[in-house]
Amino acid sequence: MVDGQRGPNILVTGTPGTGKTSTCALLAQATRLKHVNIGELVKEKELHDGWDDQLLCHIINEDLVCDHLEEQMSAGGNVVDYHGCDFFPERWFDLVVVLQAKTAVLYDRLANRGYMDEKLHNNIQCEIFQVLLEEARESYKEEIVMPLPSDTIEDMSNNVGALKEWLRTHAPSYVI
Ligand code: ADP
Ligand code: MN
Repeated sequence: MVDGQRGPNILVTGTPGTGKTSTCALLAQATRLKHVNIGELVKEKELHDGWDDQLLCHIINEDLVCDHLEEQMSAGGNVVDYHGCDFFPERWFDLVVVLQAKTAVLYDRLANRGYMDEKLHNNIQCEIFQVLLEEARESYKEEIVMPLPSDTIEDMSNNVGALKEWLRTHAPSYVI
């Protein structure tokens, strides 16, 4: 249920390569939701503690990210895009989408992105063991967690349709 005091916030999570950014971009185009790409934000606003040479990514500073977004999330109207979900305040989100892809599909996408060796392997393992789905179910009420397949363009278009439908029901003024 959408908190009556603010607009809706949707979190789109999932293993890297499952299609979060593409899906959120389409959804933001088709609605009044604003796309908040946490990875980009962390880089742009330097909400990190440097670069992790092992994992080859910025070391996100979760407190800085949450402080930075508090006001915007309290107003609502956001679709947040990140491969993690356990450090955001639970009250921020009305719906938590977990995108999922088949191993072979994800492998090709990540290899295309230039991921190799350990980084490729770790992300494939993360998807096989449904780490993000579990994290979402541990961090949010089960009934707001929505796993969705993201193997094909048709899946993506169905997912955007399902999310627009959810908005139509829960926050119709955000549907264009
Ligand atoms: P994420 O943000 O989760 O890392 P992206 O949205 O960047 O994933 O997608 C990774 C790559 O996979 C992109 O090249 C994108 O076009 C492709 N892709 C993502 N989702 C799908 C899908 N459902 N069907 C086909 N291609 C997809
Ligand atoms: Mn992304």
